[in-house]
Amino acid sequence: MNLAEFIIQVEAFNANIDISLIRRAHEFSIKAHEGQIRESGEPFTVHCLNVALILAELHLDSTTIAAGLLHDVVEDTPIGLNGLRQEFGDEIAELVDGVTKLGQVEFKSAEEQQVEYFRKMLLSMARDIRVILIKLADRLHNMRTLEYLQPRKRKRIAQETREVYAPLAHRFGIAKVKTELEDLSLKFLMPDVYSELVQKVELTREEREHYIQQVVEPISRAIFEAGIKAQVYGRAKHIDSIYRKIQYRNVPFDQISDLFAIRVITTTKAECYHALGVVHELWNPVVRKFADYIGNPKPNNYQSLHTAIFGPENKVIEVQIRTREMHHIAENGIAAHWLYKEGRQQMDKADQQMAWLRDVLEWQKDMTNPSEFLEYLKIDLFTDDIYVYTPRGEIKHLPAGATALDFAFAIHTEVGLRCSGAKINGRIRPLTTPLQSGDKVEVITSPHRHPSQDWLKIVTTSNAKSRIRRWLKQAGYDQAVALGRELLERELKKSRVKLPGDEELLEIAQGMSLNSVSNLFYALGNGQVSAQHVAMKIIPTDEEKKESVVEQVLERFRSERGIKVQGLSNMMFRFAGCCQPVPGEEIVGYITRGRGVTIHRADCPSIQSLANDPERLIPVSWDVTRDQTFVVQLEVKVEPRKNVLVDITDAIADNDTNVRGVDIDISDISSVGQIVIEVNNLSQLERVLKRIKKVKGVIAVRRATGGESYPDY
Ligand code: MN
Repeated sequence: MNLAEFIIQVEAFNANIDISLIRRAHEFSIKAHEGQIRESGEPFTVHCLNVALILAELHLDSTTIAAGLLHDVVEDTPIGLNGLRQEFGDEIAELVDGVTKLGQVEFKSAEEQQVEYFRKMLLSMARDIRVILIKLADRLHNMRTLEYLQPRKRKRIAQETREVYAPLAHRFGIAKVKTELEDLSLKFLMPDVYSELVQKVELTREEREHYIQQVVEPISRAIFEAGIKAQVYGRAKHIDSIYRKIQYRNVPFDQISDLFAIRVITTTKAECYHALGVVHELWNPVVRKFADYIGNPKPNNYQSLHTAIFGPENKVIEVQIRTREMHHIAENGIAAHWLYKEGRQQMDKADQQMAWLRDVLEWQKDMTNPSEFLEYLKIDLFTDDIYVYTPRGEIKHLPAGATALDFAFAIHTEVGLRCSGAKINGRIRPLTTPLQSGDKVEVITSPHRHPSQDWLKIVTTSNAKSRIRRWLKQAGYDQAVALGRELLERELKKSRVKLPGDEELLEIAQGMSLNSVSNLFYALGNGQVSAQHVAMKIIPTDEEKKESVVEQVLERFRSERGIKVQGLSNMMFRFAGCCQPVPGEEIVGYITRGRGVTIHRADCPSIQSLANDPERLIPVSWDVTRDQTFVVQLEVKVEPRKNVLVDITDAIADNDTNVRGVDIDISDISSVGQIVIEVNNLSQLERVLKRIKKVKGVIAVRRATGGESYPDY
């Protein structure tokens, strides 16, 4: 293909092409790539021309086609971006730069790299979607000529195409590119399977074409008689979709009846519905196979009527009915809208597709974990859609596996956040119920309902996940703010001082490098700043002396309680009953709402579940006097021996330890009972436990609380 041939072909797709620009770009590219040869043995510019031709076939504008001719100049030649910019201006330079940058990130199996790749791609697409269109065209031509590469390279590129580029082409509605990429990927990933399928399709071709004629002819005739101007033809399914059917639905090749579909292309929308009636009159429709994607376009803007009929020999045949324009959009997707770029018509539809991109970019901001981001993106990009109805009959598209809760978020964020239940097809069902295509779903909301951590496990859509996550984050912040305010108020109350107004609080906040009052409360609430410290700044100076006296008393009181809390003073403490910590053990404080701080053992299992909001955990340390005692409950297993109880209590008393209570009911073989003792610290407790273990008749003894980390003695 030379330039003249190329221009003739390009003009066939777009009569308004800027020929002088194309000519200039072509000459520039020839000079830049001079002497470079592709693996196929052809001059490098053959690749450039082919990429540009694919872009022309997508009906793209002259700028994009020129950028296609130049897309490898920056990467593969000494000419820099600036040289290109000088010659062709910013727009083309930016497009080529975008494509070059995408090329520099290699698709790696390492998750983080993969995520970075996606992010980069999404960002460059958001800047100018034509970057990805050029990249897709580049990939398509590389796939067409993949046989010239080494086998290992082939596999890697084919894999990447299947996992990344084909789904992207699908997301942007470019069926033409998507199907070819899928078939080529299969061809290089599974050459045997591919060629076997091609052969089988070829072998059955004649028989099939004969059958198709038996369907196409009557439809054409009836449609013509009904006064509808339409084109009717049979369309073979692409190899990859046949492969998927065999693979995932487990249907043997000779039983796949729908190797093809019938397409009816009309001029107007009204004719589509008219034609549908005509088809249904000729053959019985298959119930539940009808879908109106004209009234309810797919998220990638695909529009068509889908039905299936029982054709001759009672075989099921799919029929798709759409207008020429809808067909054009189905094949070219988002690229279709650039044809109209000058007139600025149709751009709103392109905008709809861009909306998906904007959504993805929006929620990826909330995502800190790369694998999570990737997982969400894969759900969005790669899973099949289901469609469900609102009570008013509107269609919502969701990924397969979506639940009623996902649906609620698809309706509106507020509906999702207040969702308390759902009626599916008129019946109340749990929010966890996975939805099926065709379900009619009604969301029940309640003003008192809020999201919880568990909701993240119920939803599949990225949208719902990011909304829930954001809400939980905000709620955690709000809670800490409320707690912080409470702590400060309580601290001030001791000196009979009221909480000052926002202005004074802001001044204090700023003095502590916190930029708002709520950030000040937040810092108080999660223990970063002590209430006493802030109160000191509020309480008038002449009160300060009194304050220090109060503080002295409180200080004593606090050490009597046995705990020092970093940064926080005068807090109410309580020892958690679930783990009964004693001095010598590592402990941690948990700020409860309104009930001060509870002290747990650092390894207490209930702390693990409280760790959901880690900002409530504060470091604490022991501060005990010698004579302070702590209550510990023990569990003891004994043989039914006379005097065993007396011996146990004696053993405890031998260690200068008080017994507060015993509850053992000795029965025939062995018994388990509870003993409550008072100890000063961990080493005393351990001594007592060892001593009890030595008592004749004691099978085992251990602390009754605190989970597995305390073994039997
Ligand atoms: Mn290239």
